[in-house]
Amino acid sequence: MDNLTPAQRTRTMRSVKSRNTSAELVVRALCRELGEPGYRVHRDDLPGKPDLAFVGRRKAIFVHGCFWHGHTCRAGAKRPKTNPEYWEQKIGRNRQRDSASLEALAAMGWAPLVIWECELRTPAVVRERLRQFLARPGAGGGTIAGSSTTSPTVGQPAG
Ligand SMILES: [Zn+2]
Repeated sequence: MDNLTPAQRTRTMRSVKSRNTSAELVVRALCRELGEPGYRVHRDDLPGKPDLAFVGRRKAIFVHGCFWHGHTCRAGAKRPKTNPEYWEQKIGRNRQRDSASLEALAAMGWAPLVIWECELRTPAVVRERLRQFLARPGAGGGTIAGSSTTSPTVGQPAG
């Protein structure tokens, strides 16, 4: 039992959920703007069901709501006044699942990118990150898996 009235709870859920959904739509629009319309959405055969997946290049993009996924920003630190333990646990589980998904994807030779909802206040910055992320050569055969310190100079020409 929690102490939120149904109306309060609906309001909380709706504000958080709808923001999350529209954040995802913004990221999709940015990808199309960049001339990258070839993504699949919510591929449930991939760990964590990425919001966008570029299958051929093995690149996955997650758009995370700051509240639900426990971002380190101000919105992510917010907890409802009622039942803080419940939310702490729920958000903690989400974070664990998120990091497990990123690891699983990397182990499969995929490159994941996380976009936080709050970052979309400056869409131009996100667009630039997306551009660089998508332009980077894909992991391909997986020979560089596990190395996060690879020098940027060893990249191969795309194609
Ligand atoms: Zn945030």
